[in-house]
Amino acid sequence: MNTQPGDTFGRWTVIEIQPKIKGEPRTALVKCSCEAGTYKSVRVGSLQRGASRSCGCLQKEVARKSGEWWATQLAPVVDNSTGYSGVTERVYMSGNVAYMARIMVGRKRIQIGTFPTPEAAHRAYMDYKASRLEELVKSE
Ligand SMILES: [Zn+2]
Repeated sequence: MNTQPGDTFGRWTVIEIQPKIKGEPRTALVKCSCEAGTYKSVRVGSLQRGASRSCGCLQKEVARKSGEWWATQLAPVVDNSTGYSGVTERVYMSGNVAYMARIMVGRKRIQIGTFPTPEAAHRAYMDYKASRLEELVKSE
C-alpha cells in the first residue's frame, strides 16, 4: 500500500510525500479539511495506522458532544467561605443568614437561589449544574 498525494486519512488530505531523511520515519505533508485547514507533516505510518486522523479538531468535537468540554464551562463562583462549592453565605441587616447558590456558565454568573442551609444550596447548585450540562450538550 503506497500513500500518495490526494489520499485521505480521516480529515487529512495528503499533499506531498516528503523525501526520506536518513534515520527518520517517512513523513507526508498533509492538510486538515476543517475550518482551521491546518498544514502539518505527519508520519506516513501514523496515517496508515489511523493514529492521526485530524489536526485535533475531531477529538475536540467528540469531547464537546460527550459533554466533557461543556463540563469545563460550568464552574462554581469562587468562594470558599462555606466549604460547599457554589455556595455563598449571606448575612442580612436583620442578622438572618441565608445561603446563595451561584454558578458560572462560561463567563456568565447565574444566581440559582437562596436557601436556609448550605447543604440545601449546594444540592440546588449540583442539580442546576447537572440539568444545565444536559441542556448544553443537547443544544450542540
Ligand atoms: Zn482539523
